Amino acid sequence: MSDQPQYRRILLKLSGEALMGAADYGIDPKVIGRLADEIIEVRKAGVEVGVVIGGGNIFRGEGLAASGMDRVTGDHMGMLATVMNALAMADAIEKRGGYARVMSAIQIHDVAEDFIRRRAIRHIEKGRIALFAAGTGNPFFTTDSAAALRAVEIGADLLLKATKVDGVYTADPARHPDATRYDQLTYDEVIQRNLKVMDTAAIALCRDHNTPLRIYDMTVPGNLLRIMRGEPVGTLVRN
Ligand code: UDP
Repeated sequence: MSDQPQYRRILLKLSGEALMGAADYGIDPKVIGRLADEIIEVRKAGVEVGVVIGGGNIFRGEGLAASGMDRVTGDHMGMLATVMNALAMADAIEKRGGYARVMSAIQIHDVAEDFIRRRAIRHIEKGRIALFAAGTGNPFFTTDSAAALRAVEIGADLLLKATKVDGVYTADPARHPDATRYDQLTYDEVIQRNLKVMDTAAIALCRDHNTPLRIYDMTVPGNLLRIMRGEPVGTLVRN
């Protein structure tokens, strides 16, 4: 293990739920502040960082559709929720002295830049933390798929999925106390065993483009930097 980062460029996927802490809605300023600190720390270690943030702490299209709304309208609201989260994260990063840019897959020029791949790469090469908002810009997708897509587009050498559990288990550890954690899995094993890691579209994209994925517990401070230094935190999925 070395103090030097083992990765040149990463794509970090944070779920909307990651931002709400112990609450059941919205954004907890303490939680978003700590996550911003960790992202800045990794950036300072020399790693280029892109981030995709979900919107599940505010709206999910599926949930809105279940209560009677048109699904596409619900998904549009979900995507706009990710823009709000990305704005909050950019604010938290800049308050702490970092540089951030929000790039949206839906045009919303008064509040965010458009996602343009070359410009996104330019931002991260210049040391800015690029926050990719509005998912893929299309309904019926998730921000997991957006994270896989952006990771492949920007040529990230690792996709990280930040969760509240310390990796992928044989079964849900909350309901099956005897479940065991995988240190490593292949993408084919994830699909064959129907493991709930990310949705299948995201897994297939990472597999087909050979982008490794690490699932880790973001509630443990310092985990992101540990992973950058090559420590085997969480579960690694690769071909
Ligand atoms: N969404 C979408 N297309 C995308 C990404 C997201 O329509 O490419 C919508 C969808 O309604 C989703 C919501 O945005 O439920 C929030 O994203 P997600 O559920 O992935 O957020 P997370 O679970 O990561 O907080």
